Amino acid sequence: MKISIIGCGYVGTVTGVCFANFGHDIVFYDVDERKLDLLARGESPIYEPSLDDLIQKNRQRLATTSDLTAAVCGTDITFICVGTPSRDDGSIDLAYILSSAATIGKALRETPDFHPIIVKSTVFPGSTEGPIRSALEEASGKQAFVDFGLGSNPEFLREGNAIHDFCVPDRIVLGAMDERTMRALGDLYTSFTCPKIETSIRTAEMIKYTSNAFLATKISFANEIGNLAKKLGIDAEEIFAGVGLDSRIGPAFFRTGIGFGGSCFPKDVRALIAGAGGYGEELQILHAALRVNDDQPLKLVRLLQAKIPNLKGRRIGVLGLAFKPNTDDIRESRAIPVIQALLDADALVVAYDPLAMESFATLFPQIEYAPSAQAVLTADAVLITTEWEEFERLDYNGTIVVDGRRIAAASRTAEIYEGVCW
Ligand code: NAD
Repeated sequence: MKISIIGCGYVGTVTGVCFANFGHDIVFYDVDERKLDLLARGESPIYEPSLDDLIQKNRQRLATTSDLTAAVCGTDITFICVGTPSRDDGSIDLAYILSSAATIGKALRETPDFHPIIVKSTVFPGSTEGPIRSALEEASGKQAFVDFGLGSNPEFLREGNAIHDFCVPDRIVLGAMDERTMRALGDLYTSFTCPKIETSIRTAEMIKYTSNAFLATKISFANEIGNLAKKLGIDAEEIFAGVGLDSRIGPAFFRTGIGFGGSCFPKDVRALIAGAGGYGEELQILHAALRVNDDQPLKLVRLLQAKIPNLKGRRIGVLGLAFKPNTDDIRESRAIPVIQALLDADALVVAYDPLAMESFATLFPQIEYAPSAQAVLTADAVLITTEWEEFERLDYNGTIVVDGRRIAAASRTAEIYEGVCW
């Protein structure tokens, strides 16, 4: 099939490149010309392990354009993969998706064909059939489900593991209201052998939110139990090894630490809470999951202050700025509240991350960025905020370490070692 991808961020780029690897022809479109230029040169606009190689392998099937009408008219199906950030009140901001829908709608005027538009971005249930449909219909002068198709195909990939997650997913969720769109989606995923759920658009949207909300809650639950386990002198890892063997529960996401960040869990939980509020439902468990998650990184700083009560003028190292290893993404990274708390206490911060220092410097230009992880270890104390593999190869001898991510080498070799939940 010929596929237009609208939005060349983490999801759009991975989706397009992986579909190309399955033999489809891709046209990428983004309002950010820089991303299109990179893709046109065969380079990835985002960091994701192995993505550059996959781009090289499929170059003849990957095209870019700054002409959205040409993209839509020259392809069989269009995927919307633009960002859906939080508004200040936590609700979902549909501005990017509505603006892309308006442009796609104009393009639909130029094609006589029935063209399915698929929302891959994460949106609150009802968004696709409500405002997104309206924007498309208004701009195209055509009717959804009759003149053009509309569907939902939420994405479950994890940054850092995105290619594997896209190509070998646990399940694929296909939401559509008209047969032709469902058939197009079915054809596209025909070679995927995992379970495929064919459902309504609304249900597809809600499956995505519920998955993320559950995983976020599981992490906050693990952290609460971990906080108590530390006080009881019990190893949380052993607890969850035992608990996770229960097939009703499962072992995934039972790692204690300083909580979840990234572009999805925090914003999607907030959006679900805010959206539910509009229906008179207060999602109390999710409120609590966010509260635990907000406090966990501050706990790391409190544990440091138990060792160095006055941080004023003290040089504090921070290892890890990306929200998790193997990505350059810093959105809602737990390093952000940690560094903010250190600065509020007048500490001098020296930080290191293998990939994320450049983007972090736009948020925190006032801190020092070290040339290597080893260089951070000369600080008065070190906080570990991301579990990069290279931090396992350091010798922490002579260092005070407060660890938010359970780096075994630090617990073995640091002069003074304290874990956030262990
Ligand atoms: P991103 O910010 O990395 O990329 C979004 C892209 O959309 C940007 O390149 C931006 O320039 C482009 N864009 C914005 N407005 C546009 C417009 N009108 N027309 C064309 N392009 C436009 O975002 P992302 O992380 O790829 O996330 C995209 C969506 O997928 C979000 O809804 C997110 O919640 C969801 N999602 C993300 C992940 C993840 O791990 N990042 C996983 C699953 C789902």
